[in-house]
Amino acid sequence: MITAIRGMKDILPPETRRWQAVEQTAREVFALYGYQEIRLPLLERTELFARSIGQETDIVAKEMYTFLDRRGESVTLRPEATAQVVRAVLENRLLHGAGVKKYYTLGPMFRYERPQKGRYRQFHQINCEALGSDAPELDAEVILLLLELLQRLGLGQVRLLLNSLGCPACQQEFRARLALYLRQQTGWCHDCQRRRDTNPLRVLDCKSQHCRELLAGAPVMLDFLCPACKQHYSRVKALLAAQTLEEAPRLVRGLDYYTRTTFEVVATSLGAQDAVAGGGRYNGLVKELGGPDLPGLGFAIGQERLMELLPNKETKSSPLVFLVALGTQPRERAFRLLQQLRQAGLASDMDFEERSLKAQMSLAHRRGAALVVIMGERELETDEVILRDMTTSRQQTIPTDCLLPRLAEQLAGCQSNSFGNTAIIGGVTG
Ligand code: ATP
Ligand code: MG
Repeated sequence: MITAIRGMKDILPPETRRWQAVEQTAREVFALYGYQEIRLPLLERTELFARSIGQETDIVAKEMYTFLDRRGESVTLRPEATAQVVRAVLENRLLHGAGVKKYYTLGPMFRYERPQKGRYRQFHQINCEALGSDAPELDAEVILLLLELLQRLGLGQVRLLLNSLGCPACQQEFRARLALYLRQQTGWCHDCQRRRDTNPLRVLDCKSQHCRELLAGAPVMLDFLCPACKQHYSRVKALLAAQTLEEAPRLVRGLDYYTRTTFEVVATSLGAQDAVAGGGRYNGLVKELGGPDLPGLGFAIGQERLMELLPNKETKSSPLVFLVALGTQPRERAFRLLQQLRQAGLASDMDFEERSLKAQMSLAHRRGAALVVIMGERELETDEVILRDMTTSRQQTIPTDCLLPRLAEQLAGCQSNSFGNTAIIGGVTG
């Protein structure tokens, strides 16, 4: 048997319904805030990620799915969306004209990590990116959008962590002071010993418990913010005053391009992999990728971790009408009727295997059918069908002509599903 690749999971029904519901809610909230969907390729030139994310990051140093294509060009399965959103926006000249450009995208990401709960090699993100403004209002808006989405999804127990990483000017002094501290302490992990020299900020993101302990006395970025960054940060906090947020002076993100506002949403109930979403400003990224000097910010929600947290609400599907036919001609008749019901917006199905009445009825039962329409040779002759209500087990014979309005009537009594697809019944007759 051929199995799936390690760290890559199948998402199966009924779980897929929960995914659809979450994506639907995300689309609604994005629309409310003026964001439009952008759909991007899964494969990009390796250079795009290497240049933007940063050589010394975990992603670029050890997690990318990189390979040579048939022409020998190095390509990479996307590990994150921001760099490619910026690439697409520049390439398609979407930045022209005034106003903030707001995009969202949903889909799989790939990172070669050690698979465990909440950590996969193919996982999914809900991404939000806003380009073209440095206004603190935009930072606040993006964070409020994220919180609104999580709240609509019914996510209760989360914490919002907030920090500012300053601008390249204030980062410079911080970097020097941090590097000094990192040299003064001993016992850093192998990676951090290298990062000390190549990119000291990355040490702050180290997952090793020992390095984390050593970091307790390290200088914090907030003490090094320049007046402009300091003011930006306080405006963001003031705009978010109504929210419970925690300042997290050691919060950095796993990518090099972040500046100023940085945030993460964590859930204590997730255990070790506790970050549900992360994001922040990336004011230097557009320029770094060859575009104008335009600021931007965004976030990414990890969808697997999100699903793990959501209350397990049962999502009801549309009430099903199941057709049961006995004999070749009745089956043909039923098959035509099936299409008519579907065209009229009724979820309906039948079995194609010429099974016995009993077997077909038990299939209908297993599928959770609300109503069953039965027809045999006799019904065909009289142009009638038997309609059975599966909840009450009541059965009646009705003219085929009356079937659609009758189904509509009976189904109105059944609950419509959580996606709000109510059946529309047209005047279709047999
Ligand atoms: P972590 O610190 O957990 O490795 P990260 O900083 O690498 O996260 P980001 O690059 O900020 O993560 O991605 C945003 C979100 O995507 C994370 O908060 C998390 O929910 C999710 N995520 C990241 N990597 C994985 C993965 N390998 N499997 C599942 N979800 C992931
Ligand atoms: Mg990671």
